[in-house]
Amino acid sequence: MCLYIASLNSGSNGNCYYIGNDNEAVLIDAGISCRETEKRMKRLALSMSKVKAIFVSHEHTDHISGIPVLSKKFQLPVYITSNTLKFSGLILEQHLINSFCAYQMVNVGELSITPFPKFHDACDPHSFIVAFNKTRIGIFTDIGIACEDVIKHFKQCNAAFLESNYDEEMLATGRYPYHLKKRIQSSDGHLSNDDALQLFITHRHSDMSHLILSHLSKNNNRPELVEELFSKHAGATKIVVASRYCETEVYAINNIDESYSETKTKQKHLQLSMF
Ligand SMILES: [Zn+2]
Ligand SMILES: [Zn+2]
Repeated sequence: MCLYIASLNSGSNGNCYYIGNDNEAVLIDAGISCRETEKRMKRLALSMSKVKAIFVSHEHTDHISGIPVLSKKFQLPVYITSNTLKFSGLILEQHLINSFCAYQMVNVGELSITPFPKFHDACDPHSFIVAFNKTRIGIFTDIGIACEDVIKHFKQCNAAFLESNYDEEMLATGRYPYHLKKRIQSSDGHLSNDDALQLFITHRHSDMSHLILSHLSKNNNRPELVEELFSKHAGATKIVVASRYCETEVYAINNIDESYSETKTKQKHLQLSMF
């Protein structure tokens, strides 16, 4: 059994990432409306009945705006730190609120979700690794720098949603006010295309099958630019650029080591049964 992943939307206008196996799934953030989330999942033939929880990375509106309606309508537990909840202003049904702590794994059915802190201008921001069997998916958006934790976890991922927010040249020469440019570039801001590329080139897992470039700036980036930049270095990794207007396809992610050893084991059994 593998993991299925999709971006339902990615960017400063809303973020929502689906990760699940055949039986259960989680949403990382829910920053588009409930109606739009449902519509996009339906188009992808993903069932809301499999979604068992929403995990919240931080309190910025583009990550939380859909949560109140979505969690109420489908009675979905929301995993959110107490600080993020406080600063988000979210009103949620009490019995649906769950907290989490950095580095402490949360189990949702057979999925395990490990949060770890990240650098971003929010009160208590976290990235997540979602794992099933030995397959690991990382969700690394809204990060100012690829810190040690990001590097350590990125290395282990069979697939990742990785922020590639801005082209340095476009931001520098663009019309944003100076203070906003500084904020975006700071270690509490966002990763540039070059930052993301460096992380990918230097630290990717040898079996990374998919890299989904995420949270692209509308004004300081272009999807074609990101696609071209990463494709040159892709090797066997499929490069996908997540859109700020629509969902991606659903991608099936397997741990190649796992399927290889499964095949080996099956072959071994077959050989043994011949004698
Ligand atoms: Zn964001
Ligand atoms: Zn943010």
